[in-house]
Parts: sequence; C-alpha cells; structure tokens
Amino acid sequence: MTALVDWRALFNDIRVAWKDRGASTGRNHVNIACPFCKDDGYHLGIREDREVFHCWKCGTAGGNYLTLLMRLGHPRFEGAKLLNKYRGDRGYEMALQDLRQKHAQHDKKTSDEQKSLMFARWERFRPAAEVAEALDYMHDDRGFRYEHEWMLKEELTYYDLRVGSNSMHPGRLLFPLYASGQRAAWHQQDAFMGWTGRSMRGREPKYMTSLPQGEHPVYVPRMVRSTMLIVEGPFDALRIDVAMRSAGIGAVALTGKEMIAAHLVSLRAMMSFVRRFFFVPDRDVPVSQMMRAMHELRAALSGRNVVQLRLPDNVKDAGEMTNAAVRRWLSPLAR
Ligand SMILES: [Zn+2]
Repeated sequence: MTALVDWRALFNDIRVAWKDRGASTGRNHVNIACPFCKDDGYHLGIREDREVFHCWKCGTAGGNYLTLLMRLGHPRFEGAKLLNKYRGDRGYEMALQDLRQKHAQHDKKTSDEQKSLMFARWERFRPAAEVAEALDYMHDDRGFRYEHEWMLKEELTYYDLRVGSNSMHPGRLLFPLYASGQRAAWHQQDAFMGWTGRSMRGREPKYMTSLPQGEHPVYVPRMVRSTMLIVEGPFDALRIDVAMRSAGIGAVALTGKEMIAAHLVSLRAMMSFVRRFFFVPDRDVPVSQMMRAMHELRAALSGRNVVQLRLPDNVKDAGEMTNAAVRRWLSPLAR
C-alpha cells in the first residue's frame, strides 16, 4: 500500500525541517526527527498507511495529518487544503467530486443550516479516544485489543468515533455518517449527515440514529475502498475495515433494519471507485428477503460484480470476530 499523503513534499512546502533515518524501519513506517520537541534522534514515528503519528520523546501523538498540521499552527481549513494538495491518491479526490455531483440533488433535502447545526453538534461531542468508558467498552466488550492504549486511541481517532453528551445520546458510542457513506474530508461539513450511536450501558434502544427526517444513509468507516462488503451494523463494518484496510477491503453498513432505496442511492454513488461488492447477510435474514436484496443490489449496481458472501460457520455477525478471524475469512478476496 502506498503512502496516503506525500508528507515529505508537504513538510518541505510548509518549511518544517525533517530528516529521516534513511533506512526504512518497517512497512509503511518512518521515523523522523520530531518537529515538536528538540529532537536529536528520530523519535517521531509516522504510519504512512494510516495517517497516524507518535513521538516517543515528547509524547505528541494521535490523530491524522490534519491534527499534526493544526499542532504546527495551521488552521483547520488551511490544513485540509494542504492535505488535499499532497494526497497521493488522486482517484480518491476525483471520486469525491463525482460523488458530490451525484449527491447534489439527494442532499438538497437537508437544508445547509440544518447540516451545519448537526456538524457543530458533532464537533462538540467528546472524541471517544479521550473517554475512559469508551476505551473500556472497545477493549472489553468489542475485543479491540492492542499492545498499548495509545494504539486503541489512534484507531478511535482515525475513525473519528465520539461519545454522546449528557443532553444528547448519553452513554453512546457515536459513528459519523456522511452523504453516500463517504468519509469525505475533515472539513467537509456539507457532506455530514449525522450519526448513529450504540449504547455502551445496555440502554435501550441499542442503536439510535440521529438524522434529518426520511434520511437513511449508510455508515462507512473512514473511506470507501476498492472492495466493499455490505454488512448490517456499524461494528461489523468497523471490524472489517480495521482488519482489512491494508488489503484495500472495506465495508459499508446499512442503517436501519431493511435495505431501502436511499441505501441503494448511496451504494450507487460509490460505484465509481469500488471494483467489487460483496453482500454479507446476517444469519437470521430469511432467504426470500435475502434474494430480494440481492436482486435489488444487482440492479442498482449493474456493471459491478455483486456477490453474496457467507459468514464463517458459527459466526452470527462480523462484529464479534477477531481481526485474525476476519483476515482468515477474507483472505481469498485480498489480492
Ligand atoms: Zn517530539
């Protein structure tokens, strides 16, 4: 996998001195002299495939390149513009434009004012990486086990998961929803649709989605990838993306109980940059409903390969699998 952002060119552009060790320190991993502290070694590690960084000396860590740019004193909007300039994946940008056009009409349903209000609310929710309850929940209940706590924090930041406030969605882990499922860009509040939240304390209902009336967008963790699995819940999608993103395999969750036309619109908008779709029905979906769904998917996504994929035996949904199990299950697709 190639680097997501040409950070060397970017750093040169904004006159941040950097030197790397020369020799590579592992796949997708570089160490450079940290621009935040008086670093005479190579303490700032950058994961090029995941946009995360961490300085072993001063502890500056977390987030993505945008966070890094903001810490270097660039305002959010300017940082986002810089990132777009040096984002290696041109296809991603082009797809985004295409998608914006396709969705211009769909988006009209929601007024700009409404959207910016929702986005403002979202920005005020606490990042899950900063909330002990969310860290415990992901670790204990969801099996997101990492060697160090900061690794889990980086994942939560990468996916921009948040925690509800006392007045709205309290005790819920919130997933951001973007028009057509695209994790568009950090500054693109026009694509922001709302959020879906899972209760962490067994509160009912388990899932709650905050959206403009009549909207049923899909949840895509972070970004649409070249192979997409269509799954039921946000945790299924998250687990698959975590385990398979380096192989170019991602997932999209359909919010709500059934597949509806709005979902198909969202899936269609992804077509320009998805090579293959796989539909993964839960075990409890009746055959007739599953066949109707397959029929609708093939019609909506005509011209793309849509294949039904079975979960491994004894697995009820993808969200309950470990990363290793997901990789074993999907290894035939990873090429
Ligand atoms: Zn440092």
